[in-house]
Amino acid sequence: MPLHNDTPLVASRPLSLRTGRTVWLKLDALQVPGSFKIRGVGAACEAHARAGAKRFVSSSGGNAGMAVAYAGRMLGIPVTVVVPETATDHAKRLLGQDGAEVIVHGAAWAEANALAQGLVDENTAFIHPFDDPLLWQGHATLIDEVAASGVAFDGVVLCVGGGGLLAGVAEGLERNGLSALPILTAETEGAASLAASVEAKRHVSLPKVTSIATSLGAARVADHAFALSQSRPIRCGVVSDREALDACERFLDDHRILVEPACGATLALLYEERHRPLLDGLEAPLVVVCGGATVTVPKLAEWQASLAA
Ligand SMILES: *Cc1c(COP(=O)(O)O)cnc(C)c1O
Repeated sequence: MPLHNDTPLVASRPLSLRTGRTVWLKLDALQVPGSFKIRGVGAACEAHARAGAKRFVSSSGGNAGMAVAYAGRMLGIPVTVVVPETATDHAKRLLGQDGAEVIVHGAAWAEANALAQGLVDENTAFIHPFDDPLLWQGHATLIDEVAASGVAFDGVVLCVGGGGLLAGVAEGLERNGLSALPILTAETEGAASLAASVEAKRHVSLPKVTSIATSLGAARVADHAFALSQSRPIRCGVVSDREALDACERFLDDHRILVEPACGATLALLYEERHRPLLDGLEAPLVVVCGGATVTVPKLAEWQASLAA
């Protein structure tokens, strides 16, 4: 039994009416640890457990860390998550709720990650948040499920942080004979590391990352994600933080599901008129509602206030 759930696939009436096409939603916001991450993280943790790992280590205070904590609890394997001092109490509480040992170390992620790497030994597996073929294989199950449902879709809309979801969806499309379908990527301004690389036609790093969509905050996408952008149909969209936040609120009203701004970025490509040209030629886009556990209703209001200021 995989650690993720086969999530609902529904046609969105509000988004279909708004965009004049049939919009399919793959509701991975409904995964138990809150996001699609458990697909890949679960697959990676299971593989490491079979190979004899006695402990999992992560340096993510975000959804990857939550997924590792959940996978460890399900598999009966202890988990240590090293997070920087900037990690929110909410995130630490969620990790603790799944029984993970949480170590707070360093002012920024790089320091937390260095400590986490130092904990790795022959019995301990480090679970990367996006750059690992084991992870992509697991993420690809999202497309397997849609393909098995028989729903005919003609493109996929998703967001990109480090590009693990992108790599997994591309793998899923390929293994289901759908590799000709375009993938539409969403990033927020200040975190658009894939769009910057596609624009420059070479793999670049952002000098700094600034966006409320912290789950998209990778200064550089995985090598494989960049390679995909050069070898298969991909269209990059970049939305503002405000558009991403507004999309979270509209989606909450339309579908009664609360998602992070990262996921709001994906949804903004459909909600916002100015991004509509990206959907050209698609009659039935599949939208990956990737979710995110770090959001709360008060947090949405706080972000809105900070953008207004
Ligand atoms: C991790 C994450 C992303 C980005 O995924 P990558 O594989 O890093 O591109 C997007 N949304 C949510 C909710 C996430 O947890």
